[in-house]
Amino acid sequence: MNATQELKAHALALGFDAVGVAAVARLDAQAHYDAWLAADRHGEMAWLASDKHRARRAKPELLVKDIRSVLCVALCHPPDRDIARDQRLGRIARYAAGEDYHRIMKDKLLPLERWIRTELFPGSHSLWYADTGAILERGWAERAGLGWTGKHSGLLHPQRGSWFLLGEILMDRELEPDVPIGKDHCGTCTRCIDVCPTRAIVAPYQVDARLCISYLTIELRGPIPRELRPAIGDWIFGCDLCQEVCPWNRFAPPAREARLHANELSGWSLERFLRIGEQEFMELFADSPIRRANRAGFVRNVCVALGNRGERQAIAPLMQTLTRDKEALVRGHAAWALGQLARGDGAAGATSREILEAREALKGAMLDADPFVREEATAAFAVAQGHA
Ligand code: SF4
Ligand code: SF4
Repeated sequence: MNATQELKAHALALGFDAVGVAAVARLDAQAHYDAWLAADRHGEMAWLASDKHRARRAKPELLVKDIRSVLCVALCHPPDRDIARDQRLGRIARYAAGEDYHRIMKDKLLPLERWIRTELFPGSHSLWYADTGAILERGWAERAGLGWTGKHSGLLHPQRGSWFLLGEILMDRELEPDVPIGKDHCGTCTRCIDVCPTRAIVAPYQVDARLCISYLTIELRGPIPRELRPAIGDWIFGCDLCQEVCPWNRFAPPAREARLHANELSGWSLERFLRIGEQEFMELFADSPIRRANRAGFVRNVCVALGNRGERQAIAPLMQTLTRDKEALVRGHAAWALGQLARGDGAAGATSREILEAREALKGAMLDADPFVREEATAAFAVAQGHA
């Protein structure tokens, strides 16, 4: 076995589902990424456009001096979904339903990197990444033969589909590079573009993050634009729709990594999430990527999901949130949700008394101390009355 083969065997033994090597040269993905930034499609993720990030992405030699190779790995997460769990909790993107993948990747990449530095290439320099820094992950993985970039701008592979996560080790030693897949296997298919409820795939291979449910429910810190809320459905963290419809995912293998399987979150429901406190949130999601949304962002998402579900049982808990939650962001989204449920055709089976109480609660919130809540309550009251 030569060094490249030995390294790949070691990576697969650690539990990665695929491994490839990318030669170091300017990536085709770089121009695409620069155009994406120039069009402001990164939304509030300002760090992506910072000079430091841009320079590092364009020049990986700033990360590892004398860089010669990029080792790319893929780790599959579960391709299936538990409908009963979704019904209770709302929908969470598959990659985020288990333990935080950053930790899992670290637990595999760190020992691999250490082994490279101490045993395979003693004295070499290397650095690992897993959605943790300024590198063009998909571009390197594509060059390493791990997939092609689909029209939804994610990576997919003829045998593995797209339900996998990426990691990389940059190193200053030469490895045998793999051959990129080269061909785009999307053909005339446009299923991902057609299914996207917010029209975030603005053209093939171009996703406007500002419209994408993943960005809106995870990265966005402030209010979700009102006009986009109905399209979010009951996604409370991320979105998988463009991958769910992809025909290549019929071939996706099961996840071998048990830590990526969904946490049960027994006893929890969308309505109970409304009452979660700061400390409880940190404890419940201590090992989960959901922590990233923060408690206020997460409960904001839950309000939107409940407003979209149209279920009578959400009215009373939302009224409590509207009056008691300490975060104006949450109270404002609770107002929006109540406005949806208190419309004539809002919550199925709601009594006229419940509708009346919800509208009264909105009237009360029009006097909230916070201007954002007042504005949301006023708009929601008009919707509930059928005036908007
Ligand atoms: S993740 Fe969802 S919102 Fe984002 S592009 Fe895909 S289908 Fe659209
Ligand atoms: S759904 Fe169709 S167009 Fe979209 S990534 Fe999959 S194959 Fe390509």
